[in-house]
Amino acid sequence: MIFLDAAATTPVRREVLEAMWPYLTGEFGNASSHHSLGDAAATALAGARAATAKALGCRPGEVIFTSGGTEADNLAVKGIALARRAAEPRLDRVVISAVEHPAVEESARYLERVHGFALDVVPVDSYGRVTEEALAAALRPETALVSIMYANNEVGTVQPIARLAALARSRGIPFHTDAVQGAGWLPLDTTVLGVDALSISGHKLGAPKGNGALFVRGRTRLEPVIHGGGQERGRRSGTENVAGAVALATALTLAGGTRPVPAARVESLRDDFIRSVLSGVPGAVLTGHPSQRLPSVASFCFPGTSGESVLLELERQGVICSSGSACAAGSDEPSPVLLALGIEPAVAQTAVRFSFDSTVTAAELQEAAAAVRTAVGSVRALGPTGWQ
Ligand code: PLP
Repeated sequence: MIFLDAAATTPVRREVLEAMWPYLTGEFGNASSHHSLGDAAATALAGARAATAKALGCRPGEVIFTSGGTEADNLAVKGIALARRAAEPRLDRVVISAVEHPAVEESARYLERVHGFALDVVPVDSYGRVTEEALAAALRPETALVSIMYANNEVGTVQPIARLAALARSRGIPFHTDAVQGAGWLPLDTTVLGVDALSISGHKLGAPKGNGALFVRGRTRLEPVIHGGGQERGRRSGTENVAGAVALATALTLAGGTRPVPAARVESLRDDFIRSVLSGVPGAVLTGHPSQRLPSVASFCFPGTSGESVLLELERQGVICSSGSACAAGSDEPSPVLLALGIEPAVAQTAVRFSFDSTVTAAELQEAAAAVRTAVGSVRALGPTGWQ
């Protein structure tokens, strides 16, 4: 099997499992307990926080461990917007892009539905990029927060985050970025990026599912979303997932921290793969930006097919990939991200995403490109009734 769905999730790396193992077994203490087992857990948690902070170029106190990327996004969007409006009632607008993951989009829609915020959605160009002009047009004196993702999970397009963050901050507006897909591939230094908040998730990086972190800069006001015993300095209650935090920190460190290591090698394999699919499959269209894209994502539309049928055919040939994002899989609706790029609904339904982890090889991608040619050919040969 050739696994080309790493943007959905990755296997746990052996080094990560070994690093977290003690905190699942012998050193199983609660980091808040006042005895030796608790102290050992608290020390491990502090170590994980320091290593995560190093990978994010921030201070340990600016890292909040969460149950994953979704929770980190919820905490950033709801927590910052609600805290700012509580301090200054006129701040009742939130800006997001048209291609956000549902964890950001639905958090913003919740603020609109339940808390009376107004939502401003910034359009993207045909590559999925947010321009500075488009963001500038959406900013108002009432804007409480801007949230724009670092890299898109469906088409891999990378946003000019440092420039967008600088623009928002020049107006005194905090800027959050969902870096769940960027982590491990793109520079993550929060000081260089100039963001006020940044979300990451462990399972995209070789740590287990169910752990992540939110960076929140210095004195940024934050209303907690989960209430309870006051862990994480009152910003996220709940007994700390010590093993998960150790896993996340280890995975981030292995991925190269602020300056990821495998990016250049995988990027050139990605470009060979894209070339070979575009030249081998008549009518294939690359979605997302041709160069400003994640090294790990190649995404296409294959007009005259259905994405789901191509996916099934590829699986029969031993290639695992995804039709759009995992969250949208199984839904008959075309992906809102592809529609936001201006792709026709009928074409958007033919989308297939290939995403690699850092171990991918040239031989695997050559085999996968050949399988794509065969799969698309046989789905097209069946005709519309065969795949509908
Ligand atoms: N944000 C993006 C861009 C993602 O791709 C994902 C997961 O697919 C998430 C957020 C959610 O992260 P998690 O699965 O850790 O909740």
